[in-house]
Amino acid sequence: MLGEFLLCDDKLSQDKGPGAGALSRGIQTGKCIPYKLQPPKKTCEVSAWCPTEATEEPPQPALLNSAENFTVLIKNNIDFPRHNYTTRNILPDVNITCTYHKTQNPQCPIFRLGDIFQETGYNFSEVAIKGGIMAIEINWDCNLDSWFHHCRPKYSFRRLDDKTTNESLYPGYNFRYAKYYKENNVEKRTLIKVFGVRFDILVFGSGGKFDIIALIVYIGSTLSYFGLATVFIDFLINTCSNTSCQSYCKCCECCAVNEYYYKKKCESIVEPKSTLKYVSFVDEFHIRMVEEQLLGRSLQNVKGKEIPKPLMDFTDLSRLPLSLQDAPSIPGQPEEIQLLSEEATPRSSSSPSWCQCGNCLPSQLPRSHQCLEELCCRKKPGVCITTSEPFKQLILSRRALQFLLLYQEPLLKLDADATNNQLRHCAYRCYATWRFGSKDLADFAILPSCCRWRIRKEFPKSEGQYSGFKSPY
Ligand code: GDP
Ligand code: ZN
Ligand code: ZN
Repeated sequence: MLGEFLLCDDKLSQDKGPGAGALSRGIQTGKCIPYKLQPPKKTCEVSAWCPTEATEEPPQPALLNSAENFTVLIKNNIDFPRHNYTTRNILPDVNITCTYHKTQNPQCPIFRLGDIFQETGYNFSEVAIKGGIMAIEINWDCNLDSWFHHCRPKYSFRRLDDKTTNESLYPGYNFRYAKYYKENNVEKRTLIKVFGVRFDILVFGSGGKFDIIALIVYIGSTLSYFGLATVFIDFLINTCSNTSCQSYCKCCECCAVNEYYYKKKCESIVEPKSTLKYVSFVDEFHIRMVEEQLLGRSLQNVKGKEIPKPLMDFTDLSRLPLSLQDAPSIPGQPEEIQLLSEEATPRSSSSPSWCQCGNCLPSQLPRSHQCLEELCCRKKPGVCITTSEPFKQLILSRRALQFLLLYQEPLLKLDADATNNQLRHCAYRCYATWRFGSKDLADFAILPSCCRWRIRKEFPKSEGQYSGFKSPY
C-alpha cells in the first residue's frame, strides 16, 4: 500500500480538534488557526506529513501467495568446544533434491514453506494476508561417547506471533517504513506498509560424554534428597497429630500411631536437679516426681507430678545366672551379724500413721530430715512389697547381690566388715533400678521405709547410725 504525504506548514494536518487521535500528532507551530467556518472554531496548528495515512485493508489473496511452494535450504554448523566436537546438519551423502518430511525424510535440510505451516496446523495463504512469524527450531541432543555416538538435529516448528489478538492489537506481522526524497526542492516521503512472513531459526541443544566424577556427584546429590524424606514425614506426622487429627477425631487410630511414633523417636530427658526426688508406689503404675521444696510433711502425702514409668530393661537382669539362689545358711556366718544387729532395728509393730503396709518404721534421721524417709511402699492399705517374690530373690539374695558387685568389679575383695555395707548399698541400687526402670531416675529415687529397713535388717551395719539418702549432686 502506498501513500504520498506532503509536508505542509501552513495547513491543518487534519480536520479534527486538538488531541483527537493519532493523526493529530505533530510538531505544534504555536499558531491558532480557524478550522471550521460554520460554526466558527479554531485549533492549534500542527506541522506534519500530509495527506494522512489512508487506512486500507491488506490485499486478499496475499501478494506472496505463491511463495507457499518456495523451498529454503538451512545450513547449520554447531560446535561443542568442551568436547572439541564440530558437526553440521547437511551430511555429505544428502540428496539435494529432497524435501523435509516429518516422518519420511526428517533429516533433509530443505523445507517447503507451505509444509512448515501445515506442520503447525496453519494455512500459508491465510497467514500471508496479515503476516506471521514462524520459528524453525533445530534441537541437537548429542551423545558423544564413542560406543553410543549419536548427533543429528531434530527439526520442529512453532508459530510465534499471536493469532488470537484482535484487530485493534494489530495481529500478524506487518509494519510501515518510509522512503524520503526531494522533488522540486520539496521534501516528500513514500510510506510503505508491508505484510509478510518471517522465519526465525532457533538452534539449541546439549552434548554429553560419560564422566565417572559427574556420575558420583549425581548419585551423591540424589541420595542426599532421601534425607529430606524423614524431615518431610516428621512434618506430616507432627502436623497431623498437632492440628487436624486432634480437632477432627479425638480418639482416632492415627492419633495413637502419632503418639507412638513420637515416643519412639523422642526420648524425654528430665534434667537432673538435686532437689528432685522420685517416688514409686506398688499399687500405682506411674512414678511421682517431687520437688524437695514442697516437702515439709511426710513424703507419703506429697502429691507430686505423675510421670510414665520407663519400660523395664531386662538385659542386665538376664546376665544373672539362674543358679543364683541363696545357699543354705551356714551357722556362724552372716546370720550371726544379723542376730547381733537385730536390736538396732526398730520393731515392725511400731508402724507409723502414714504407713499403709504395716512394715514401715520411723526414721532415724534428725527431725528436720525425717519427712524424706516417711514413705510407704503403698498409697492405699494392702500387702507390702517386701513380701513379694522378686524382692526376696533380687533385693535380699546375698548371692545375687554378691554376684552383681563382682560383675561390676570382678576382682573385688569382699572383706567381712565391709561386705554388709556394700551389699546393703547394692540392694538399694537394685531396688531403685527395679522399681524405677532407668538409671537417671534411680539416682533420685527414694526407697520406701519398709524396703529400707528390710534391707538394713538383712545386711545390717555393725555400729553407728545409718546415714540415709544422699543426693548424687
Ligand atoms: P550408710 O551405709 O551408713 O551410709 O547408710 P545407708 O544404709 O542409709 O546408706 C547410704 C547410702 O545409700 C548413700 O549412698 C545413699 O545415697 C544411699 N541411699 C540410702 N537411702 C537411699 C534411697 O532412699 N534412695 C537411694 N537412691 N539411695 C539411698
Ligand atoms: Zn508401709
Ligand atoms: Zn511396705
